[in-house]
Amino acid sequence: MTDTEITPTATYCYVHPGRETSLRCKRCEKPICASCAQRTPTGYMCKDCVNQHQKIFDTAVWYDYLTVFFTSAILSGLAAVATIIITSIIWGFFIIGLAPLAGTMIANVTRRFVKNHRSPMLNTTLVVGMILGALPVLLLSGLPGLLTLLGGGGNVMGSVVSFSPVLWQIVYLVIATPMAYSQFSGLVFRR
Ligand SMILES: [Zn+2]
Ligand SMILES: [Zn+2]
Repeated sequence: MTDTEITPTATYCYVHPGRETSLRCKRCEKPICASCAQRTPTGYMCKDCVNQHQKIFDTAVWYDYLTVFFTSAILSGLAAVATIIITSIIWGFFIIGLAPLAGTMIANVTRRFVKNHRSPMLNTTLVVGMILGALPVLLLSGLPGLLTLLGGGGNVMGSVVSFSPVLWQIVYLVIATPMAYSQFSGLVFRR
């Protein structure tokens, strides 16, 4: 990717006429200095273009946030319960393969509910929903381990084993959340 192209004649930032620059806005091609350039997934843009761009893509309405939050929280809670079931009766490492699928599923279902409404805050809401949705399950799964530890019963190895449900919950969240986020927000720049 060539973000910087050296132009033979000196160009100056359109906001700061005193600053010589070789950077150009990807969208309107106006020369911009380093402090005016905003990094976007498609290259550098001037502040005006970024603002316009965001207005076009910020189509979320207030209840979209509620929809995204509750959908992702409920689905993430279910996925967290599934994580406990899978890691305790089948095989813990299964979750490494299943968590990305869970993340993709959560993103797709949530996306369907809010149609094409988009905004950066909506993406954040999805992440918050997923974490908060899984949190009660995570805390509950840590309870037996905590009781063992507080009761002084069992050895160190025993406590580590009894905390393993918590670790799998964290593995699920660490894999599924970024996956869901990229799926949910990545569609922004797709035609
Ligand atoms: Zn521009
Ligand atoms: Zn400038």
